Amino acid sequence: MIAVGMTEPGAGSAVTDLATRATRDAKGWRINGSKIFTTHSAYADLILAYVRFGPGVAGIGSVLIETKAQGVQQGRRSQFMSGEEWAELKFEDVLVPEDMVLLGEGGFKKQIAGFNVERIGNAARSAALGRYAFEAARAWALERKQFGRLLCEFQGLQWKFADMKLKLDAAQLLLYRAAANADRGLPSPEDTAIAKAYCNQAGFEVANEALQVMGATGYSRETLVEYCVRRCRGWMIAGGSVEILKNRIAEAIFNRSFSQRP
Ligand SMILES: Cc1cc2nc3c(=O)[nH]c(=O)nc-3n(C[C@H](O)[C@H](O)[C@H](O)COP(=O)(O)OP(=O)(O)OC[C@H]3O[C@@H](n4cnc5c(N)ncnc54)[C@H](O)[C@@H]3O)c2cc1C
Repeated sequence: MIAVGMTEPGAGSAVTDLATRATRDAKGWRINGSKIFTTHSAYADLILAYVRFGPGVAGIGSVLIETKAQGVQQGRRSQFMSGEEWAELKFEDVLVPEDMVLLGEGGFKKQIAGFNVERIGNAARSAALGRYAFEAARAWALERKQFGRLLCEFQGLQWKFADMKLKLDAAQLLLYRAAANADRGLPSPEDTAIAKAYCNQAGFEVANEALQVMGATGYSRETLVEYCVRRCRGWMIAGGSVEILKNRIAEAIFNRSFSQRP
């Protein structure tokens, strides 16, 4: 099990502010720092950790760290709303041999370009869980009766389903566009940002509406719909939050880069 450790207490959306550093050692590199919110870190064998070899964005690269290595400490354990576990990780003079360096100094841009593939996967999961919840609610509306009528016969609910379908189909087409581009090399950052932001929002909104249509049955653990809501919610934050992706989209619209720093 490999977990990907980018986020640190002082570096969330501003991931390039990460402070975990790699310093030269006769046997390789010594790693000092910490990571939080790393999915699966509570039981991973390896951490793909983003570290700082030098100052600035150009100083960032990545290394593989075995969780059993001397100097790796597991701190507080916690859970996301989705139920996935993570643990705080601390690195104190952890030795990383040269062949465990993935991308040395200057590797950050390459790593983030590759990360757009993960973002397409994240977008696909949001769209898929939204679709699953939609199908569960559709089946429910065709079966459940109130006031002597099937739920699907109430116009107030029909319009919810129409809106859900609009969002899901749009999400799927944006996802296909980004994925088709990925087939010709690394995916376009702009198309990926648009697909992920839209799929994340659509997946969550559709799953949430599906839950509403199913009433207490949707809200309880009788079905997986409540799980879809919890899971989709996290993807609006993980892997580039919806807001950070919209910043990226705005940069493409204006063909300018807008520094987020004061
Ligand atoms: C389910 C889940 C799984 C995760 N898995 C991992 C993992 O495996 N590995 C890992 O390293 N990290 C992981 N993370 C952490 C994730 O990468 C961070 O949560 C994310 O980068 C946001 O950082 P933050 O939580 O510190 O929020 P902050 O950066 O503090 O942001 C708080 C809010 O402000 C907004 N914001 C921040 N800056 C701007 C800006 N410039 N413009 C507009 N809005 C802004 C954000 O969008 C957010 O809504 C995971 C998170 C979640 C929820």
